[in-house]
Amino acid sequence: MNDNDVKKLVIIGSGPAGWTAAIYAARASLDPVVYVGVPKQDPGPILPGGQLMLTTDVENYPGFPDGVAGPEMMAGFQQQAERFGTQIVGEDVERVEFSRDGSPHTLHISDGTSVRAHAVIIATGATANWLGLESELRLATAGGGVSACAVCDGALPMFRDQPMAVVGGGDTAMEEANYLTKFASTVYIIHRRDAFRASKTMQERLLAKDNAEVLWNKTVVDVLSRTDDMGAEKIRAVLLEDTVTGEQSELEVGGLFIAIGHTPATRFLRESGLEFDDAGYIELGSRSSRTNIAGVYAAGDVADATYRQAVTAAGMGCQAALDAEHDLGARGLA
Ligand code: FAD
Repeated sequence: MNDNDVKKLVIIGSGPAGWTAAIYAARASLDPVVYVGVPKQDPGPILPGGQLMLTTDVENYPGFPDGVAGPEMMAGFQQQAERFGTQIVGEDVERVEFSRDGSPHTLHISDGTSVRAHAVIIATGATANWLGLESELRLATAGGGVSACAVCDGALPMFRDQPMAVVGGGDTAMEEANYLTKFASTVYIIHRRDAFRASKTMQERLLAKDNAEVLWNKTVVDVLSRTDDMGAEKIRAVLLEDTVTGEQSELEVGGLFIAIGHTPATRFLRESGLEFDDAGYIELGSRSSRTNIAGVYAAGDVADATYRQAVTAAGMGCQAALDAEHDLGARGLA
């Protein structure tokens, strides 16, 4: 490989963060190459296009006053990146060797090849953890009333004044359930143990709500559905199993929200020398996309355990491309 083969910028990931970085970088003549990833189950579904490929209604992304389907929105992101000359590769990055001396970084690809780049933007997201039930994912991807993001989907008209269930027992579950109390007739928090992991404050804030009710020692073993007037499959109830007695019961709900955490897609970076927080998210410099390694940037949910929204991920993608352009320019490489 000679130096002419070194890419100015490689972007890993094809969600809102990766495509936005590509749009900015392509327009700045950085000739970006995007590795979009291959479909896999790890631990939840991961698809080229990212987490929005799992949702039918995106109502909170600015510029779409009537809402937009997640896959349609991501197709638009990709087309916009392609329009400015982004090169797209349908493979995963499996391993990285980040240099510390200013020489190019090396990425090892799932097709057995490798690529070198002066700058790398990591935008591999964080996968929502699901229960792993076939009925759960089928209804989630069909807009059938199952979701892993209350802030994203809780305000949809289909959930208004309906009983809803949240699965989980940590701070995220408390936050999601609390948010849903604004819309639901009752919010049932389904927890497999007899005590929450969540902080006391979060628990107290939720349990002070008149329409929040905890179902202790229960797991969801199936999601039961009905066919609505339009012929679409929608959630009707969850089948619960008591973790102490083994007894099964049905709970009628109009929505189910899974809040059992996220897994940042950083396992392939473990030996890279990057700094991570305790949960495996990439650590960034304050108000910057720069990591602890020069020429390596991170954007979107892979570096953001707090907001995890499409618009914040896109914003971080923009920051990463601008940071990369600035740093490459300073080195006379852009
Ligand atoms: P992602 O969208 O997760 O994209 C990550 C990308 O990285 C994927 O393309 C994947 O294939 C790729 N990848 C992973 N590993 C590798 C690898 N090793 N090599 C190459 N590629 C790799 N947000 C909203 O703002 N509004 C909503 O309505 C909304 N609804 C949601 C509904 C659901 C069910 C879920 C789960 C999330 C929802 N979100 C919503 C959150 C939103 O999807 C995320 O915040 C956003 O997708 C994060 O973007 P990202 O680019 O950081 O990562």
